[in-house]
Amino acid sequence: MTTTPTPRLGAHGTPTKPLPKIEAAMAPFFAAAQKHRLVVQRCIDCGALRYPARELCSTCLGSTTEWIAVSGRGEIFSYNVMHQVYHPAFAGDVPYAVVIVKLAEGPMMTTSLLDCPLECVRIGAAVEVAFEDLSADVTLPKFRLIDPPEQP
Ligand SMILES: [Zn+2]
Repeated sequence: MTTTPTPRLGAHGTPTKPLPKIEAAMAPFFAAAQKHRLVVQRCIDCGALRYPARELCSTCLGSTTEWIAVSGRGEIFSYNVMHQVYHPAFAGDVPYAVVIVKLAEGPMMTTSLLDCPLECVRIGAAVEVAFEDLSADVTLPKFRLIDPPEQP
């Protein structure tokens, strides 16, 4: 069963976008993001990188991990275009792209692009992380095209 979130209201009574609930397992990721650093989990037993946080390594089933900084560079692996308004705060954004970025180090992140019109989104495009400070407690890593096409 799904529930419709109750929209928070901004200063002018318009709905604001919901912030992620930060679970304990992902707290180091969001703490690093606040410092504008992108980190992923690394298995201490075998060195495999993973995102999002998981209790066990899918390569060796090891359970000891650390968080390490990554380059913040990668490419668009896939994307889809959202046309449906699932939350009133996104009404002005549709249609917009939800993007899967494959980091240069391997892990994939579901995210969105900043300063990138829909017609500029393409699979394989090089991107780099750009941090969006949403509140005192929440910064979201998003991405920008490294080499955006010229706008007419
Ligand atoms: Zn492992």
